[in-house]
Amino acid sequence: MKTLLGCIADDFTGATDLAGLLARSGVKVSLRLGVPDEAPSGTAPFEVIALKCRTAPVDEAVAECRAALAWLRAAGADRFFWKYCSTFDSTSEGNIGPVAEALMDNLGAEQTIYCPAFPENGRSIFMGNLFVGQQPLAESPMKDHPLTPMRDSNLMRLLEPQVTRPVGLADRLTVAQGVNALREKLDSLATDGVAHVVVDAVANEDLGIISAACRDMTLLTGGSAVAMPLPELYRADGRLAADAPAATTPDLEPGAVILSGSCSAMTNEQVAAYGPAAPSLRLDPLQLAEDGPGPALDWLAAQPAASNPLIYATARPEDVRAAQEQLGVAKAGALVEEALAALAIAAFETGIRRFVVAGGETSGAVAQALGLSRLDIGAEIAPGVPWTFSRVKGEDIAITLKSGNFGNEDFFATALARLEE
Ligand code: ADP
Repeated sequence: MKTLLGCIADDFTGATDLAGLLARSGVKVSLRLGVPDEAPSGTAPFEVIALKCRTAPVDEAVAECRAALAWLRAAGADRFFWKYCSTFDSTSEGNIGPVAEALMDNLGAEQTIYCPAFPENGRSIFMGNLFVGQQPLAESPMKDHPLTPMRDSNLMRLLEPQVTRPVGLADRLTVAQGVNALREKLDSLATDGVAHVVVDAVANEDLGIISAACRDMTLLTGGSAVAMPLPELYRADGRLAADAPAATTPDLEPGAVILSGSCSAMTNEQVAAYGPAAPSLRLDPLQLAEDGPGPALDWLAAQPAASNPLIYATARPEDVRAAQEQLGVAKAGALVEEALAALAIAAFETGIRRFVVAGGETSGAVAQALGLSRLDIGAEIAPGVPWTFSRVKGEDIAITLKSGNFGNEDFFATALARLEE
């Protein structure tokens, strides 16, 4: 069916997060890994294109986002969402502002909003200042981010050097007065030529008001939370038909494989918690450097599919450091990613159709190896981590791609159980 809302996300896990929140409405949401090569067909009411352009050179990011926009327009979308991180991750050059401005140019939009707030996850905006929990952004751990250190908490000041047209604020006092007050404020800012409006939100109710007031803007920008009410609003407006395609779960053979390449603290706990329940194999980068993935492939082939085996390179920081010292950071990472990608293919070849993957980069490697380009969003396993359904060589598969710290200790078992419901 015709796409109603076309979303562009600046990284993969951000795209999954947004897709998962939109899918809470029960409507079909489809996630594309990169701009599809082929013209749109069989599109969902909500389409999300995942790019990897958060820290790309500005020109590259803008070109990619323009290409994504063109594809989404061809899919029929006439409303668009530019999704970036809830901590406004960007440098003084971009890419949040330049991409927004380029999309506005293409769409002929005079104004857009910026609302990265996600109160449930401790991201709130007051008087244009972004808070991470109780800390101003610039005092939060984001101040030391290796690629996008955030050294100012004021979103207007962060945005101004990134855009050419005026930046303004609709503050909490206006938002708290409700939908009409916010609309009036946006109109009066538009009359003054303000193209880029930061909007305060400190609580969930604020997001409801903002989405309602802005649902007819051609372009919205923000974190995932402000988009969450849109499906219900579209339903109320009659834009989303009652019989719009819903998310469906394909019939899949039993048997899963869990592949973990994340070394985050949470993933370490998840591996420890799941380990005793199923056959598990630890991958050691040093051994992979010697022997390649052959022994692990043999091990996997010997496991009954119904045993839902776990294969992990997940290790404690000191072990990771030791491997990196011997092999180099990039080589150690690549060996693990290549092995897990090869194991995913082998698992598929032996008939496994359910995949749990832990690690952002690891997910990218596995998704690429399996040749995934489209994921239909299914049930949420943990906040921000849904099951997704895709096709490999004409066969339905289920795959969940979990980045580092997401999910609780029981994530792997919870994921497998969720698919049975
Ligand atoms: P996260 O989402 O937790 O950041 P990623 O998959 O993005 O996880 O990143 C983890 C990186 O660490 C990957 O490149 C992976 O190949 C690498 N890696 C995994 N296990 C080890 C290990 N034991 N030693 C060194 N590097 C590892």
